[in-house]
Amino acid sequence: MLGENLIAYLRELYRVPDGEWRIYQAEVNCFDHDTTTVNGSVAPIGKNGRRDWSQSDPETKRFFTYSSDRFDEWRKSHGICVRCDGTGQVVVSSSMKNGTTYRPCDACARKAVLDE
Ligand SMILES: [Zn+2]
Repeated sequence: MLGENLIAYLRELYRVPDGEWRIYQAEVNCFDHDTTTVNGSVAPIGKNGRRDWSQSDPETKRFFTYSSDRFDEWRKSHGICVRCDGTGQVVVSSSMKNGTTYRPCDACARKAVLDE
């Protein structure tokens, strides 16, 4: 799932609330482009199958700031592809009308050839 690796990384740095804590907002910091601040909470799954952030548990609302470079180093040390976050897919385009389209990750494809 998107963000799982980032949440695992944040759990090593900070006291992230237990349970299904998920990120609902991410923002690159305007004065320090290497850092990103994410907001998250535990929220129930709504009738449409998506998280209902309006029903977030206020006790679990937290924001955390992390360094993109350090997160990349962490992923490399855990064998996770930095380009696709280990999903094997990268986003080609994303729009409200057509949804998100993906293509296979070049970096992972190259690694698979090298590993053979
Ligand atoms: Zn990849």
